Amino acid sequence: MSGEPQSDCLFCKIVAGEIPATVVRQNERTIAFRDISPQAPTHILVIPKAHYPNAAALAAAEPALAAELLVEAGEVAADEKIDQAGYRLIFNTGAGAGQTVFHAHVHVLGGTPLREGLV
Ligand code: IMP
Repeated sequence: MSGEPQSDCLFCKIVAGEIPATVVRQNERTIAFRDISPQAPTHILVIPKAHYPNAAALAAAEPALAAELLVEAGEVAADEKIDQAGYRLIFNTGAGAGQTVFHAHVHVLGGTPLREGLV
């Protein structure tokens, strides 16, 4: 069924507590944790606890939950005190765009001046 946990999904395992993560924020439907390979001083992933393979699939199935992800990303930025200087949200969608974990997530990046460009 749509949104059900997948046994072979890394982020479903983090949601279930089967793989450790540095969780910075969570609520009933979302969880935010530090990226294991940070690309900026602040690099946090915000994910829905329900499994959808990417952000587009999430938004199509549960638009309110997709919106909640953005709200939580903003709260993470405020918690990390990167909201005033500016931060970047990235949704890699598909392997060709660099998506490596096929559970919807948004990258929250900041804490340093971010170069202009594609990402
Ligand atoms: P993607 O490339 O947009 O799919 O992003 C997946 C992200 O997950 C990458 O930035 C990885 O560094 C990150 N990642 C992979 N495994 C873990 C983990 O166990 N904990 C936290 N982040 C992870």
